[in-house]
Amino acid sequence: MANLSTFKTTASQEIFAKAKELMPGGVSSPVRAFKSVGGEPIVFDRVNGAYAWDIDGNKYIDYIGSWGPAIVGHSHPEVIEALHKALEKGTSFGAPCVLENQLAEMVIDAVPSVEMVRFVNSGTEACMSVLRLMRAFTGRDKIIKFEGCYHGHADMFLVKAGSGVATLGLPDSPGVPKSTTANTLTAPYNDLEAVKALFAENPDQISGVIIEPVVGNAGCIVPKDGFLQGLKDLCQANGALLVFDEVMTGFRLSYGGAQARFGVTPDLTTMGKVIGGGLPVGAYGGRKDIMSMVAPAGPMYQAGTLSGNPLAMTAGIKTMEILKRAGSYEYLEQITKKLAEGMLAIAHETGHAATGNIVGAMFGMFFTSQQVYDYEDAKTSDTAKFAKFHRGMLEHGVYLAPSQFEAGFTSLAHTDGDVEATLAATRAVLSQIAA
Ligand code: PMP
Repeated sequence: MANLSTFKTTASQEIFAKAKELMPGGVSSPVRAFKSVGGEPIVFDRVNGAYAWDIDGNKYIDYIGSWGPAIVGHSHPEVIEALHKALEKGTSFGAPCVLENQLAEMVIDAVPSVEMVRFVNSGTEACMSVLRLMRAFTGRDKIIKFEGCYHGHADMFLVKAGSGVATLGLPDSPGVPKSTTANTLTAPYNDLEAVKALFAENPDQISGVIIEPVVGNAGCIVPKDGFLQGLKDLCQANGALLVFDEVMTGFRLSYGGAQARFGVTPDLTTMGKVIGGGLPVGAYGGRKDIMSMVAPAGPMYQAGTLSGNPLAMTAGIKTMEILKRAGSYEYLEQITKKLAEGMLAIAHETGHAATGNIVGAMFGMFFTSQQVYDYEDAKTSDTAKFAKFHRGMLEHGVYLAPSQFEAGFTSLAHTDGDVEATLAATRAVLSQIAA
């Protein structure tokens, strides 16, 4: 493990300095630049199991897992072996292949709302496609989304979005026309009354509601009892569609995602991350009558050169096979509890105001004294303290998401020993930070 006496970042700094000349902010995706926690990011060399190694040779226990896909552990030997075999048949077909059927069947079997599925290449693509489908099916243009929920970087969703947008303090982005977001209505998470009011103010105009059933892009925020069912009832009463964005929660909160865990079945679902097993994949699916509108079965156009890519399908299929084995989710649940409850207890013992949420293999800790039910609550967190905590943990060999407004992820590869080492680091770091 990296430790204070050996921790050095000379090579990371050198490479990142060069990266900044070559790519905006030195990264391919903003949150990786560590803007909200300050300090230079770590440049990775390799990943395996629960660990990441940086270019200077420091080893970290990784609780990001490539932002979600690595739920069976990085570079799982069975996934790697399956990929080697698939590689021999080629890297891209651009034609139907049986692997698509296999992954589609697995997704349809697992996710209650999904009767048909379309594969794309990212969560962003899945969400922008599902939005077009919502509008095509209902003939209405408006949508409701929730403050702090992130549905990828398509124009229509960059309104009060969480994730990197929250971190960078950009409630909106230049380049997004007002006319595009005029149809995006927002409500606070966990606030059914606000949603009811929006439906009342916009009769017969709202195509649907899209939501992260458990928020992961404003820290980890869980739905209050009855909130998700209440949304479903409101959508049904108003002829609108309910969409769960399960890009993050899919196959992470249970094998059937948040919808199986909470017993609320939406009309449509977006997925990504886990179903690609670490390769670029997204998907959207749902009721057959709605999905039948997607081209070429129906008139709603959506396409992709690399969609259904054989390597991505292979990694997804093998990852799902491993997850489906007996005991996987019980293990994820208990290891996540041990970690997140332990961190919270240590925060309290060392005198810090902190609250947390844990669901399945997803967790979050906020440096605030109030329970977090929505984005406004999350924003009461002491982000300067989080930044110190983050850097301290990094120097002790623990790689946490570099923002207070991101969830943490565990995997089947995290052991009791990893958790104990993480808790020891938490105690060491939080004891050093003024309460
Ligand atoms: N929806 C949710 C809930 C997400 O968490 C993310 C990414 N973190 C996306 C959509 C966008 O996915 P991608 O980054 O693969 O485009």
